[in-house]
Amino acid sequence: MSWKISSFSTEESQILVDESLFFIGNGYLGVRGNFEEGLLPGQKTIRGSYINAFHDSVPISYGEKLYAFPESQQKLLNIIDAQTIAIYFGEDRFSLNEGEVHSFERHLHLDQGFSERIIEWCSPSGKRINLIFKRIVSFCEKEVFIQRIEIESADYRGQVRVVSTINGDVQNYVDKSDPRVASGHAKLLNVTRVEQSDSISFVECETTNTHLKTACAAVYSVTSPYLRKDFAKASSIETEFIFEFTGKAEFEKKAIFTDTLRHGEDLRAASFALQTKLHEKSFDHFLQGQTVYLEEFWNYADIVITGDSTIQEGIRFNLFHLLQSIGRDRFSNIAAKGLSGEGYEGHYFWDTEIYIFPVFLMTHPEMAKSLLLYRYSILDQARDHAKEMGHRKGALYPWRTISGTECSSYFPSGSAQYHISADIAYSFIQYYLVTNDLAFMRDFGAEVLFETARLWLETGHFSEGSFKIDAITGPDEYTCIVNNNYYTNAMAKHNLLWAAKFFRLLETQVQEALSALSRKIGLKTEEMDAWQKAADSMYLPYDETLMINPQDDTFLQKAVWDLAGTPKEDFPLLLHYHPLTIYRYQVCKQADTVLAHFLLEDEQSVETIRNSFHYYENITTHDSSLSTCIFSIMASKLGNGEKAYQYFNETARLDLEDTHGNTKDGLHMANMGGTWLAIVFGFAGLRINERGLSLSPIIPDKWSGYRFSIRYQGRKIQIERLAEQTIIHLLEGDGLSLTVYNQPYLLEKETSIII
Ligand code: BGC
Repeated sequence: MSWKISSFSTEESQILVDESLFFIGNGYLGVRGNFEEGLLPGQKTIRGSYINAFHDSVPISYGEKLYAFPESQQKLLNIIDAQTIAIYFGEDRFSLNEGEVHSFERHLHLDQGFSERIIEWCSPSGKRINLIFKRIVSFCEKEVFIQRIEIESADYRGQVRVVSTINGDVQNYVDKSDPRVASGHAKLLNVTRVEQSDSISFVECETTNTHLKTACAAVYSVTSPYLRKDFAKASSIETEFIFEFTGKAEFEKKAIFTDTLRHGEDLRAASFALQTKLHEKSFDHFLQGQTVYLEEFWNYADIVITGDSTIQEGIRFNLFHLLQSIGRDRFSNIAAKGLSGEGYEGHYFWDTEIYIFPVFLMTHPEMAKSLLLYRYSILDQARDHAKEMGHRKGALYPWRTISGTECSSYFPSGSAQYHISADIAYSFIQYYLVTNDLAFMRDFGAEVLFETARLWLETGHFSEGSFKIDAITGPDEYTCIVNNNYYTNAMAKHNLLWAAKFFRLLETQVQEALSALSRKIGLKTEEMDAWQKAADSMYLPYDETLMINPQDDTFLQKAVWDLAGTPKEDFPLLLHYHPLTIYRYQVCKQADTVLAHFLLEDEQSVETIRNSFHYYENITTHDSSLSTCIFSIMASKLGNGEKAYQYFNETARLDLEDTHGNTKDGLHMANMGGTWLAIVFGFAGLRINERGLSLSPIIPDKWSGYRFSIRYQGRKIQIERLAEQTIIHLLEGDGLSLTVYNQPYLLEKETSIII
């Protein structure tokens, strides 16, 4: 089965999309798949490299700024460009736009962690040259971006000139017509130092407002004897190599990226030290590291699908890009577009907890843990945010952020999405259920659960015996500022229940730690009782006539949007209608109540879940890429395999086929996680709750089989579903009891379950 994603296109529009699809990264550094030689002036490109969480802050300008609106927002910055390498064969400059391209292909190797472009080119004066460009962003040395160019020619002998640039004069991409891409504030990075010393080219830049710094230090190696000249300019260094070409040559450029969040103030010292440490290390060395790293990754994360090669390609592609984008330190998380582009300005959303976190939790729990630690690290800001928003206590997590403060400037579908706090609490609870890591909950998780539980008591109120939450927005951004959004209330209930549960658990198991935490945050036992009471009395809207859960108190009173009569070109609606027009109708951008039914399925009967699914299905546009995967999971649960497959199909290749038309701005990370969810929670029916682990695998008709593994409380369990059979193996760890198709089983190493 192929481990390679390929493109053979040199069409301008596809090149732009491929810049995202062929990006390479390692959670710290991301480099878009731009061409070393560049494009023609005027040709559209989004040339970018990013360091996770490396941002500037910019003032938000409002027409009317009301109380407690955020003053500024963060923006992931496009950093120093080390991609550029121009090659001249005599007078002919290599370019896809000049001479003739006899063949062009590019590949992304998902098992070896590198990308390459292979080109057969005939120069304007008739020189026939073969070029291979390879690049790696190292998984093992996070600061390293290394490029290698292999040049061959059967007929050309003569001078070759390679001009490589490290350029600090960069800016972000801006598209004023699309709210999902930043508007304004393109140029925020300023060059502070350009230095050529011996063999190292060093460029350092500083952001305008946060005064964070980043630097790039590059070295080269060339296989032929050469003449070298360095030209240090105001904001860049150009290094020229001239050599006599004898038919074959190889050129390598090793760039080290550092920043002041992670490497201290002296970036010159840090990056020179790294260059010295990696002095002898060539492309092949890093390539070997990639292969070993990825072998370990795929050992736990791979999903094998037989009988559907395009879906197989899609799922591996998606998992690989998630790995390339997920932050692994306390400064960073995973942005909506990962490190592949600038859409949503590099902000972290609830996408992490609900769509991406589970993938890592069940395959590489240590990475999932670092996502939680990031949330813990911004807990103080979440406490401040709660105060800003008028609450006396508790933590309100920002709807979108990089460094921890709220960056949303349109509060109806931004700050009002209070559910993000419950989503974060949910992921801590899931972490505990999957890992049993009580020490982590004692040290970090409990505090998050307690502070978020406090938020709900601050936000809601008792009315007619029920606990109600008013004036918030649920996940569906086409319906804003509502009372009693079903999703939010159900998730808040879960948050409150588990906060009370953890309080009791810590009380019995680690009393001292609970006392210390209670002192730290001024927590009293009465608060725990109040959480329990609010949870027990939580109001969850239900409509007797339709026998569904209404999305909120007034949702069903609105007119239904005429989806069938809406012209195709009017989608996504958010780009064609004023928000108020959209808010007046029953129309959903994405799964909302349906998502609540997946995350908290015990809250309702299967009948209510089924009725709700059908109801919302008819009024959902899926204008958000976070939607179809959830409908797929629920279609599987409700036994409609065909429908589940249709929805799933839309998630698996969303970016590969650019079905949302904006892949150029970056890949849709939440959807990529959603593909995994739709297989594991959808087709395989995995659920993990206090009762333990259960499965109910079904298989789409098109497939002859699928297989994946999960990590669960120190075990590795492999689940395989064939056309007529389900096989479960215990590959690592101790035996356990689990439920398969609602029947109890004992799974042990020697005795696989075969049904
Ligand atoms: C979705 C949000 C999501 C955001 C970032 C929006 O279009 O409606 O739910 O968090 O994109 O992916």
